[in-house]
Amino acid sequence: MIDIRKIRVVPDFPDAGIQFYDITTLLNDANAYEQVFLSLLDTAKQIQPDVIVALESRGYYFGPAIALNLHLPFVPIRKKGKLPFTTYQECYNLEYGQAEIEIHTDAMNKGLSVLLVDDVLATGGTARAACKLLQRFKPRALSTLFLLELKDLHGREQLSGYPVHTLLSV
Ligand code: AMP
Repeated sequence: MIDIRKIRVVPDFPDAGIQFYDITTLLNDANAYEQVFLSLLDTAKQIQPDVIVALESRGYYFGPAIALNLHLPFVPIRKKGKLPFTTYQECYNLEYGQAEIEIHTDAMNKGLSVLLVDDVLATGGTARAACKLLQRFKPRALSTLFLLELKDLHGREQLSGYPVHTLLSV
């Protein structure tokens, strides 16, 4: 059983009224990090994806390790302006502000089973935008996997039609 108290809650970060779930405290505990990784890996195995995609930047704490362990290709989704080749882009609203994410146009073949990984499902805006980006590749299946779901923010509703897997929820 993963102990939610390993994640530090920082009030009013980055703006007043936001409860920020800071997973650096979990990453700093080798046993907790390993336990979380193994649980995510277990779920990923059951999904049987062809490719692992993760969101910059905290999705990178888990996504690449899952891809390596399952011997699958890894695809990064990055914030605007970071990817060097031609990209698809999506704008979206955050709990705190607006943002744009990108993926390389040659990131994957069409028709794959795709697993999208991130640390926290908050409002769901980021993951929804990522799913829109991934639809460009006409995946035959698209699932999402998060360490933590913040239920009050109803992110799951933004992802209707896509399976949502989470290890923890508050
Ligand atoms: P959202 O688009 O609102 O679901 O936000 C998801 C992304 O922002 C995730 O990549 C999280 O890393 C980060 N995030 C948003 N809100 C929080 C929060 N309250 N605590 C921790 N991370 C958050």
